Amino acid sequence: MRVQVIGSSGTFPTVGRPASGYLIVQGSTRVWCDAGFGTFAALPVDSDLVDAVVVSHQHPDHCADLAAAFHAWTYRPEPRRGVPLYAPQAVWDRLGLFLEKGDDSDLSLTFDFRPVWTGDQVDIGDLSVSFTEMDHSVPTVGSRWEANNRSLFFTGDTGPGGSWSEHAAGVDILLTEASYQESNKNPEYPHHLSAADAGRIARDIGAKKLVLTHIPPYMDVALSVHEAEQTFDRPVGLAVPGAGFDV
Ligand SMILES: [Zn+2]
Repeated sequence: MRVQVIGSSGTFPTVGRPASGYLIVQGSTRVWCDAGFGTFAALPVDSDLVDAVVVSHQHPDHCADLAAAFHAWTYRPEPRRGVPLYAPQAVWDRLGLFLEKGDDSDLSLTFDFRPVWTGDQVDIGDLSVSFTEMDHSVPTVGSRWEANNRSLFFTGDTGPGGSWSEHAAGVDILLTEASYQESNKNPEYPHHLSAADAGRIARDIGAKKLVLTHIPPYMDVALSVHEAEQTFDRPVGLAVPGAGFDV
């Protein structure tokens, strides 16, 4: 399995750095995971080669480019139809409102929406994906990806609460958000992790490798990596657009 980083910017994109988005590849299977601002145009393959889309939650920095994909796949001479979209129900509801499309519209022709929540498991080509509820301010799923006895867990957005970390136990790579640093944690919005939280959780669940993502553009990424390494007690990777990780 390979993870190609399309975008990793937390909260908003900057030039050359889209918001949350990854291409997860196993054999001939390619899944676009999270469709944050700027990720559609930055897909590393022709979008018609994407087999399915998985979205963690309805916040625009994780799903806004579903609108870009809808336009690209729908408004062309030969539209693409039936692209599987796995996400919490609220993502679909939000997309319909934004595009002003109902369930009997071309939105439902372009996407084959399949709601997912805690306990759901799906096979997408050569990949097995299972979902669990995260500690965020809106319904959010984390996803565990498995193939050939290798595993990846992607947090989407989350705080440290709840039982999600049990679902990530022993993964080969924990790809986790790290929206805060020790100096700027926001106790009024505990639904994100600090880099030190990420390192602590990765160590506690026995993750073999930790990769940080979703660091806002105004923060020093080197400091985030440093803080995570203090608690993980091992080198920590950083998701940057164009980078790839073999799982
Ligand atoms: Zn969010």
